[in-house]
Amino acid sequence: MMPIELKPLFNLESMRREPKFTNGFYQQDILSVDQFDRDMLSYLFTRSLEMEEMARVAGTCDLLKAYTLACVFYEPSTRTSASFIAAMERLGGKVIPITQGIQYSSVSKGESLIDTMLTLEQYSDIIVLRHPEIGSVARAAKYANVPIINAGDGTGEHPTQALLDLFTLRKELGTLDGLRIAMVGDLRNGRTVHSLTKLLMKYDVSLRFVSPDVLRLPLNLMNELIDKGINVRETDNVQDVIGDMDALYVTRIQRERFADLAQYEEVKDCFEITTELMQQAKEKMIVMHPLPRVGEIHYNVDKDPRAAYFRQVQNGMFLRMALLASVLGQA
Ligand code: ASP
Repeated sequence: MMPIELKPLFNLESMRREPKFTNGFYQQDILSVDQFDRDMLSYLFTRSLEMEEMARVAGTCDLLKAYTLACVFYEPSTRTSASFIAAMERLGGKVIPITQGIQYSSVSKGESLIDTMLTLEQYSDIIVLRHPEIGSVARAAKYANVPIINAGDGTGEHPTQALLDLFTLRKELGTLDGLRIAMVGDLRNGRTVHSLTKLLMKYDVSLRFVSPDVLRLPLNLMNELIDKGINVRETDNVQDVIGDMDALYVTRIQRERFADLAQYEEVKDCFEITTELMQQAKEKMIVMHPLPRVGEIHYNVDKDPRAAYFRQVQNGMFLRMALLASVLGQA
């Protein structure tokens, strides 16, 4: 029998993965917008613009070729999951998508969130996690040995949405300081509203909160705004504020968060952004929405150049490209 020749398979020295940047993002869990200061935000926005330019010129690159992302969603998602996957793929990385619902994972057999994380980190370098319980992503991050990105924890936070929202405001309006922004809709349950409000506190902005009484911004956030000396006001009527705003951040009424569906029925149609209403807005105002919309912005508003919500969707991919690359030490 011929002897089996065993030569080394790899030249590992030439293949070594090294971080290029070890700044404040490197290997960090991204759990809350509280982690970011203005310098970090502006760094991330500059990188996001570079990602946009790269995608426009080249489409894809191999910056994250050596990395794998596990994308784990225990709550429905279209944009967040798809944009993280698109971001990773445009940077040449690999993705393990667990986004088809927990009924197809071992969670349906009773596996704990922690065990699922400890398993997935054996295959991946970073995990994006959405879960219906407030605080669950932070808990998972305590046990996991790879960075975890919070893609929404119940009614808690949605930091990457807030980052892309802020990036969109900056890009569309050229500045953040001095802006007048109205948040409209389900301010009690909307985690994107909670995260964006916290980020905006870092700037010199005026905020208007427009909601029915039962869906007002949580008191702790309102108190924080007041303590910081931010100019705030609440109303239940968009017409009171629209003429004066630079941005309208519209959100849906979150049916799935209501314990009492009769109460949902009472408030579900409380706001509608129509072309008539848009006539009262400034020429340069923008309309944003984290999406999905369920009737609160009429389809014919989409033709208005001030409708920024689909540009906002695309910004999400650039921002998440920048964030993934930064956490992995490649940006
Ligand atoms: N897509 C956003 C979120 O996941 C907003 C929403 O669901 O209304 O929080």
